Amino acid sequence: MPSKQEITTVLTLLKKDHKPTMLEQLSHYTAFQMVVMTALSARAKDATVIPIVIDMFAKHPNPEDFVDMPVEKLEKMIYKIGFYRVKARNVIALSKMLLEKFDGVVPDTREELMELPGVGRKTANCILAYKFKKPAIAVDIHVFRIANRLGWVHTKNEKETEFALMELVPKDQWINVNNMLVGHGQSICSPRKPSCGKCNVREYCEFGKTSLNKKEREKRK
Ligand code: SF4
Repeated sequence: MPSKQEITTVLTLLKKDHKPTMLEQLSHYTAFQMVVMTALSARAKDATVIPIVIDMFAKHPNPEDFVDMPVEKLEKMIYKIGFYRVKARNVIALSKMLLEKFDGVVPDTREELMELPGVGRKTANCILAYKFKKPAIAVDIHVFRIANRLGWVHTKNEKETEFALMELVPKDQWINVNNMLVGHGQSICSPRKPSCGKCNVREYCEFGKTSLNKKEREKRK
């Protein structure tokens, strides 16, 4: 198990080659817009979601713009995003709840955020970390995969990973975990073929060290 110092070192090294995630690129957007784009990005590629939300929020920036919007109109705007039908319904429902229950202000606690339709634990943690700069670790498929490859955790699912990481990672680094690991997952540590040869944290990585030793053994044969 890595020390807290080693984890901080890895996160610092990842910062050097970091490619900004969608939520970093669009961090100047409002909290409402960030909730919506995060919910839309579930199981979808940032490259698909980014141009769609930029265009959509240029015309419809506020929850008031969505409450009375016919769902077919919203579906048409976001149809390139996977699960767009259910996501469109959620965006309209969460806009309504935001106005009716929270006076149009996005709440800054996990519990309240998770009351919003379509907002699960990962989306809530993203908003806490990226928008409100509150300590939270948002675990998606990239964070789950890379935390396990690094050997930080040995977990079976994303929720288990979040709790294990909260034990391991220094609290002042929690808000860096998602952006650093997602950025790394989108550029170097891809799901099927990680580019370990180009990775600047390989010496700290359980998977990277094992694959290196394997290649060396094969060369010597
Ligand atoms: S060494 Fe390979 S598996 Fe480990 S973090 Fe880097 S790219 Fe991913």
